[in-house]
Amino acid sequence: MTRPTSGAGRFAPSPSADLHIGNLRTAVLAWLFARSTGRGFMMRVEDLDDRTHYDVAERQLTDLAAIGVTWDDQPQWQSRQHERYDAAIFQLAGRGLTYECYCSRRDILSAPRAPHAPEGAYPGTCRELTDSERAAKREGGRPPALRLRADTGEYTVTDLVHGSYTGVVDDFVLRRGDGVPAYNLAVVVDDAQSGIDQVVRGDDLLSSSPRQAYLADLLGYPQPVYAHVPLVVNAEGKRLAKRDGAVTLAELGVSPAFALITESLGWPAADMTELLALFNPDQLPPEPWVYQPV
Ligand code: GLU
Repeated sequence: MTRPTSGAGRFAPSPSADLHIGNLRTAVLAWLFARSTGRGFMMRVEDLDDRTHYDVAERQLTDLAAIGVTWDDQPQWQSRQHERYDAAIFQLAGRGLTYECYCSRRDILSAPRAPHAPEGAYPGTCRELTDSERAAKREGGRPPALRLRADTGEYTVTDLVHGSYTGVVDDFVLRRGDGVPAYNLAVVVDDAQSGIDQVVRGDDLLSSSPRQAYLADLLGYPQPVYAHVPLVVNAEGKRLAKRDGAVTLAELGVSPAFALITESLGWPAADMTELLALFNPDQLPPEPWVYQPV
């Protein structure tokens, strides 16, 4: 496979559990989107939350390689990238684009919401605290999260599967109260600093993409191309889970799992090279893949 000159796609698993067939299918699709456009492909372990799950991450990487997903360079581990997240926060803070937030989840859910604001969107409670109000909150002992001071309520991204998609941008969290960089910040910083210009992932993350694209713009990063692909669901239409039966590579075997993935895509192929030759993003099945484990 020729090494591309610029641009890259990526797969970014969180090491919370072994990958199931749906995660593997998404990884295969991300690889196909990248390789079919001459891009590189990067692997990133999103272990900010799951730093102790080193063995799970290693198994995920082994499974991805076994199914035929290849990546360039060494996998990146988010837990080793704190300096770049701190630098991005420092930049935003220096421009007055951050503020401390003392709200608990319960505070946020019970606060009055603007009409049409989606549940869970931050209502802005701590946005305009005075110095003395902030000092009083600090006395309370709860370490503050750091939020983005967004100057818009929505943002539009272009998605290869969903077209033009407009979604909510609230004052989302950049750094959690426990000091851990938030997912939305880490993803944006890592993608940009790794030269990733194509983001292919499950469509459960479509609604996060306006926040991420807006933040990328604020940080002066170029917008990636997005493709949010349909998830795999169980017979009840719910997101596939371990309890649904045989879903991991260890349970299914590599060849049967690969065959299931290619059949679900409608491009029966013996290996990734054949699959790449058949891949046509315009023919990607638009609906979730209903998977009924045996
Ligand atoms: N780590 C996230 C997950 O496993 C994916 C993040 C992303 O692709 O942006 O769901």
